[in-house]
Amino acid sequence: MPNGKPAGERCVQLKDDNLCRLFGQPSRPKVCLQFRPCADVCGDSSEQAIWRITELEAATSL
Ligand code: SF4
Repeated sequence: MPNGKPAGERCVQLKDDNLCRLFGQPSRPKVCLQFRPCADVCGDSSEQAIWRITELEAATSL
């Protein structure tokens, strides 16, 4: 995604099983490398993580 990932859009590197195609690769974006999962963002389930990240993206998008 050369122009960045727009809020609410699924990353093209995210596989159907929700794992990253670039994990462990040098081409993985720096922002992804720096992200540290935490309960405030991820909650305690995939459903909570999707809901919380969607809310955060909407609140911080231009
Ligand atoms: S870690 Fe980064 S590159 Fe990988 S799927 Fe998530 S947003 Fe995309």
